[in-house]
Amino acid sequence: IVDRLKSSGLLQTKGLIGGKWTDAYDGKTIEVNNPASGDVIASVACMGERETKDAISSAYDAFSHWSKLTANDRSSRLRNWYNLLLQHKEELGQLITLEQGKPLKEAIGEVGYGASFIEFFAEEAKRIYGDIIPSTLSDRRLFVLKQPVGVVAAITPWNFPLAMIARKVGPALACGCTVVIKPSELTPLTALAAAELALQSGIPPGVLNVVMGDAIKIGTALTESPQVRKITFTGSTAVGKKLMAGAADTVKKVSLELGGNAPCIVFDDADLEVAIKGSLATKFRNSGQTCVCANRILVQEGIYEKFTKAFSDAVQNLKVGNGLSEGVSQGPLINEAAVKKVESFVEDAVSKGAKLLLGGKRHSLGMSFYEPTVIGDVKNEMLIAQQEVFGPVAPVLRFKTEEEAIQIANDTNAGLAAYIFTNSIKRSWRVSEALEYGIVGVNEGLVSTEVAPFGGFKQSGLGREGSKYGMDDYLEIKYICMGNM
Ligand code: ADP
Repeated sequence: IVDRLKSSGLLQTKGLIGGKWTDAYDGKTIEVNNPASGDVIASVACMGERETKDAISSAYDAFSHWSKLTANDRSSRLRNWYNLLLQHKEELGQLITLEQGKPLKEAIGEVGYGASFIEFFAEEAKRIYGDIIPSTLSDRRLFVLKQPVGVVAAITPWNFPLAMIARKVGPALACGCTVVIKPSELTPLTALAAAELALQSGIPPGVLNVVMGDAIKIGTALTESPQVRKITFTGSTAVGKKLMAGAADTVKKVSLELGGNAPCIVFDDADLEVAIKGSLATKFRNSGQTCVCANRILVQEGIYEKFTKAFSDAVQNLKVGNGLSEGVSQGPLINEAAVKKVESFVEDAVSKGAKLLLGGKRHSLGMSFYEPTVIGDVKNEMLIAQQEVFGPVAPVLRFKTEEEAIQIANDTNAGLAAYIFTNSIKRSWRVSEALEYGIVGVNEGLVSTEVAPFGGFKQSGLGREGSKYGMDDYLEIKYICMGNM
C-alpha cells in the first residue's frame, strides 16, 4: 500500500510552505508509525520555530490576494478540492488507517465526512451577507460588512486526521482567510496528502501551509505572532487552555473544541434495540477515541439488567484487529500511552467496587489493542466517569429518577455531546433543555454532520464548527457609518 501511495504522489513527507514542499531547516525528521503493527510508515520533516515563522509570512502575503478573489472564485477552487478528495477516497482512507489505526471502512467514511465540510463551505462562501441598519439620524447611512479575520492557525489532533482539518480549513478559506495547519505529529501524512490535493485544485501557494514537528515550538510561534489573527484548535482541554492563554497577548480570536465527558442516558421507557444500537455506535466508534464518544452510560434501574446484558452481548460481537482486515470494527488505540490511561481508569473503577461485565484487559493481539470492555455499577466519582477514557471501555451507571440522571450528567466541567434514549416526546424536550451540553442526540448515537453546529458548553470549548454558524468564527464584523449624506 505504501508503495502505491508513493507512486500516486499522495505520500508527502515534507512540510508545505508558500506552495513549496520543504524539509526541516536543520534536516531533522520524525517517524510516523502504524499503531496496528509498529511499522514505520514514513519519516517526515520535524519542524520548529523558523519554519513556522516562514509559513506565517507566506500565509500573510497570500492573504492580500486570496481575500480579494470573488466568492465564486474561492468557491470553485474549494469545490475542486472537494472533488479531488472524493476521487482519492480510497487512498486517503488507507493513509488514515495506516497512521491512525481506524478500520478502513470508517477511514473512508471519514474522508467523505471531511470532504463534506469543503463542499458545504464552498457553497457558504457565496453567502457571506452584510446588513443595512436603519439610521437614528436622517443624514446617515449605516452598513455592516463581514470580512475575513486574516491568517488562521489550525492545530489539529490525531483521531480524525482529515476531518478535523477540513472542518477548520473549509470555512477559513471560504471566508478569504489563509491558514497555517499544524497536524498532530502522530498523523501528519493524511494532512500532507490533503494539502497536495489542495495545490492540485488551484488553491494558490501560501493560502494553505502545513508545518509539523515540535508541537510546543510551533504552537508558541503561532500564538506569539501578531500576524496570526485567529487560533482554531481541536484537542485536549489542557493544551486548549494553554493556547487560549498564549493568544491573550496578541488578542487573537480563539475557537476551541476540547474534551467531552458525554453522558448517554437510557430511560426505562426507551426502545431497547434503539438504545443498544445508539449506545454502541457512540461508544465504540473509532475504538472510543472521539470527543463525542459516550463516556458514561447512565441506565435507569428498571431497564438496567436487560440493557447491560444485551449491550454486553453486542459489544462481545465487535471484531478487533488491524483496520485493513475485512470485518474489523475495532482498531488499535493510538499508542501505548493511550492504553496505559485506559488500564489505569479501569483499575481505579474496579478497585472502588465497579463490576467488570466484559473485557477489561489488553487484547491478545498485543501492540495497543484493548478488549472492548463493559463495566457495571460505576459511580460518578470514579476516575472513569470524571475524565475522558478515550478507549473502548463503556462504564455503566445506574440511576433512579430523571432529576438524578440530569444531575449526574451535568456534574462535570465538560459539556460537548450528550445522548438520551426515551420514547417520550415530553421527556426528550425536558431533558434536552436541561442538559448543559452543546450537542444532544435523542434516540441517535451518531449526530455529527457538516450542516449542524458542533461545539461545547463549559470547558469543552468556544465557538462552533460546521453549519452556517461555522463561518462566524472566521469573520470580523465591520460597521461603516456614512455621514452628512
Ligand atoms: P490529544 O490528547 O488529542 O493528543 P493534544 O492536545 O495533546 O490532544 O494534541 C492535539 C494537538 O495539539 C496536536 O496537534 C498536538 O501536537 C498539539 N499540541 C500539543 N501540545 C501543544 C502545545 N503546547 N502547543 C501547541 N500545540 C500543542
